[in-house]
Amino acid sequence: MSDYWCERAWLPSGIQAGVLVRVSAGAIVGVSAAEPPPDAHRLGGLVLPGFANAHSHAFHRALRGRTHAGGGTFWTWRTAMYSLAATLDPDTYHRLARAVYAEMAAAGVTCVGEFHYVHHPAGGGRYADPNAMGEALRQAAADAGIRITLLDTCYLAGGIGTPLAPEQQRFSDGTVEAWAARVGAQRDAPHARVGAAIHSVRAVPPADLPAVVDAAGQRPLHVHVSEQPAENEACLAAYGRTPTELLHEAGALTPRTTAVHATHLSAKDIQLLGGSGGGACLCPTTEADLADGIGPARELLDAGTPLSLGSDQHAVVDPLLEARALEHGERLRSGQRGRLAPAELVAALTNHASLGWPDAGRLEVGAPADLVALRLDSARTAGCLPAQVVLAATAADVHTVVASGRVVAVDGRHELLDDLGAVIEELWA
Ligand code: ZN
Repeated sequence: MSDYWCERAWLPSGIQAGVLVRVSAGAIVGVSAAEPPPDAHRLGGLVLPGFANAHSHAFHRALRGRTHAGGGTFWTWRTAMYSLAATLDPDTYHRLARAVYAEMAAAGVTCVGEFHYVHHPAGGGRYADPNAMGEALRQAAADAGIRITLLDTCYLAGGIGTPLAPEQQRFSDGTVEAWAARVGAQRDAPHARVGAAIHSVRAVPPADLPAVVDAAGQRPLHVHVSEQPAENEACLAAYGRTPTELLHEAGALTPRTTAVHATHLSAKDIQLLGGSGGGACLCPTTEADLADGIGPARELLDAGTPLSLGSDQHAVVDPLLEARALEHGERLRSGQRGRLAPAELVAALTNHASLGWPDAGRLEVGAPADLVALRLDSARTAGCLPAQVVLAATAADVHTVVASGRVVAVDGRHELLDDLGAVIEELWA
């Protein structure tokens, strides 16, 4: 038994002062008002539930600070991303990902959804273990002390009606059946769950969508949707439908589906998503960095679509900044303040259900013991009302992170973070 005493805690019933969280076998077994016991780990400030980073491509972290010269577009950025992907193997991917997940852990992330599509060797062939790259990511999360949902991604085409380009070959299993067989060989572990993903309507033809949905079964199913207007235009030209309409008709919008980005949606798309019971994962710092646009967060919530947040390409790994960017995007496009209440931002930050961990993301008995302690006395947060501090704090204010009952980072430090610069330099050498 290890106990954490919280000066203030963000409970389902609201913020409460003086809360003892009792932990056994990685889970919360008691939450009660109490004076600080002498042997409890004392967490000052405000303790929130652990954050879920619902959309990650770990290797994109190596592009940070290297794509800002010479202008360009999403599509020219993608070319740089492909050349980086070509350098990865299971060893380098493991070393890079564990440092990236360490960075996430230090920022308060206790579970990552890894949208994984770099499956096979560059230049063709298969690894001896065809899931070696996915295994590298699962191991990386274990090393960093956080949980992972490996969203194993089906990727079969280079674009609508376009064969795979040479640099995309390693993303593809060749057929949807081969993808499903490879995913089917993976098993859940205490820290890792298997999920599925449709890369996009660009990369999976409509005829193959139902087979992906079948293979996903009751697991989370994520899909990039309408990140760029060009995707909508190509989809409408080829099929006479938006990507959301196409996914709906293929049965791919279910309560287990998460539409990632959902930036350029029609009113009908928003209603289809809302009616499906699925969610949407917005990635505001990426959508700003890549000039994607601002997604309709308020309209999605009003249609009944729960939101989650992802750092996606990791130009920024700071869930609190991601949440603030969500609200700031809403303000910029609407001319109104307070479009999402602070509690709605915390709900998005802690949406682990989108990753297939429905019990996580709450400080209550039965949940994984994931705690993020925020300073209320830093230069950024001093004087803030605790209920509104998510609109002022950054990852620099996260002083202690507990994942599955274990302290994984303190004051922004994680033992695996030291490797990050060296492994990135090696990939670009
Ligand atoms: Zn993505």
